Amino acid sequence: MKHTDALDILQTIYGYDKFRPQQARIIDAVIDGKDVLVLMPTGGGKSLCYQVPALVREGTGIVVSPLIALMQDQVDALKALNLNAAFINSSMSAQAVAQTEDELLAGNVDLLYVAPERLLMSSTLNLLDQCKLSLFAIDEAHCVSQWGHDFRKDYLGLNILHERYPMVPRIALTATADQRTRAEIVANLALDNAEQFISSFDRPNIRYAISDAGNAKESMLRFLDEHHDGDAGIVYCLSRRKVDETAAWLCKQGRKAVPYHAGLDAQTREAHQSRFLREDGIIVVATIAFGMGIDKPDVRFVVHLNLPKSIEAYYQETGRAGRDGQPANAWMSYGLQDVINLRSMMQDSDADEQHKRVEHHKLESMLGLAELSTCRRQALLAYFDDELPKPCDNCDNCLNPPSTWDATEAAQKALSCAYRTGQRFGVNYLVDVLIGKDAERIRSFGHDKQSTFGIGSDRSATEWRTLYRQLIAKGLLSVDVGGHGSVSITESARPFLRGERTLELRHIKTSKGGGAKKKRNKAEQVAPADRGLWEKLRGLRTSLSEGKPAYLVFSDATLIDMVDRKPMSHEQMSDVSGVGKHKLEKYGDAFIELIREHDMFADMDDEVAQTEADYLTD
Ligand code: ADP
Ligand code: ZN
Repeated sequence: MKHTDALDILQTIYGYDKFRPQQARIIDAVIDGKDVLVLMPTGGGKSLCYQVPALVREGTGIVVSPLIALMQDQVDALKALNLNAAFINSSMSAQAVAQTEDELLAGNVDLLYVAPERLLMSSTLNLLDQCKLSLFAIDEAHCVSQWGHDFRKDYLGLNILHERYPMVPRIALTATADQRTRAEIVANLALDNAEQFISSFDRPNIRYAISDAGNAKESMLRFLDEHHDGDAGIVYCLSRRKVDETAAWLCKQGRKAVPYHAGLDAQTREAHQSRFLREDGIIVVATIAFGMGIDKPDVRFVVHLNLPKSIEAYYQETGRAGRDGQPANAWMSYGLQDVINLRSMMQDSDADEQHKRVEHHKLESMLGLAELSTCRRQALLAYFDDELPKPCDNCDNCLNPPSTWDATEAAQKALSCAYRTGQRFGVNYLVDVLIGKDAERIRSFGHDKQSTFGIGSDRSATEWRTLYRQLIAKGLLSVDVGGHGSVSITESARPFLRGERTLELRHIKTSKGGGAKKKRNKAEQVAPADRGLWEKLRGLRTSLSEGKPAYLVFSDATLIDMVDRKPMSHEQMSDVSGVGKHKLEKYGDAFIELIREHDMFADMDDEVAQTEADYLTD
């Protein structure tokens, strides 16, 4: 790093030792006045990439951010470091706006957050004309992509920044990795000459698991009981109805769960999101309407109760877990119905043919990931052209390698059953024929007389349904989603029917259990002897948070470091990662006192120690 003032800011203000390697290069470039494009996964540390240069360079850094709701927390986080940060948005009174404008004109603002539509208003631009600007940071830059589901029309107008302020460097940032989006960002924001910094998209602390064992809700509950007692997390469902049902059901099971979807009024949504951010251990059950830009660092799990429509969506949604770098779980359960629903949603959409083809391809890739029997992380990263040389050892398939079986003969039976019954029936009917069910409907079509009737009685109905799902996922059967879900044979099925190719399939574990072996959860990162202290530090953090998210005081990572080091002086406290000058002054004494007190009674048994402590503080 050539700019030592940047390092000094990192250490004294943020309380961190050193920049991550990419951060250092990016920050150097921006300080030098270059335009840059940053592709970095969630939790990679994008914020520092523009905050630090904005502090080093003269003037105000303008941060374009799509979500007004998040600006308050972003600004609060900077204020907690004693920096001069502000935002301007439509939720403010005219008076508050005027006051911020005065501060800005007086050159007192280090960082100003503003939504794109507000920035592009001529009054705002006229205001900026009168200010010294250090940089423009365009956060969530993928919002400029018309292909993505976060598209924001106003982002397209941002290329004027370049024309109007050619001397002010721009830094565009996103956690979306695919090539197409990247190209769109470059084109639409006029970043052709920008230096690109592309990090690995791996999120090593997230454990991926995808299950197709059926009974999604029950297995989810077992998974939560086993790994996430009292943790905050997100559960994604495809429909609003399922969101409402699942949230209510979780509450009945004794969990703190709230629903979130576009059908709820704005006030309820806001209230639920705010509980999630401020209270410990809330589970949000949501459609994809929830999440973009959710900055909560300690989301410990993300569950999908339905298949997402693309790997991009899966990556982005699961990526909301573990932003703080601590272990987190991404757990998904899906079934045949998901495939059918998604395909029919796509078919019914009014997108043009080209769009539909792209969407179709994306869904097929997602299915491929779900049905995979090798390392999920390698496949996930490969999709983004990011190579992981070795299997990860932190996904369900690595931890619990699935066995495969020679499914050639069974597949032939399943395929020919579809063929012989005229390719007019859905999976449930075909399964009934295969197992030779005694049913009026089957007799009425004369299918009880057919050669495929009962040839599958050696397997259970569930096994056949699973096999059908796998055949559909592999593209050997296609589902007529417009009609009644009837399945028909595709061109690629023919070699199997003719016995020219064999088929290996994953054994589906119909056993219970949440997939991956027990993992250490957050509390277990703290040695058992230190749990008491950890809980006390968390309690103190909440009590000092003044109704704002507790992590604004100190992050989990900072508290864990504190538990390890047990600092008992200001000097020792300032060595803790995440304790900068301002927070040391503001909170240092309270935490030091708690650690000393804890240490004094460390040898006693907990209950006695607590009584003694109460006695002493009386
Ligand atoms: P992103 O915006 O890329 O998702 P953030 O900017 O929120 O990531 O950073 C993620 C976490 O990592 C934050 O808690 C942040 O304070 C921390 N962090 C960032 N850079 C460093 C660093 N150089 N050293 C230690 N922690 C860091
Ligand atoms: Zn793996």
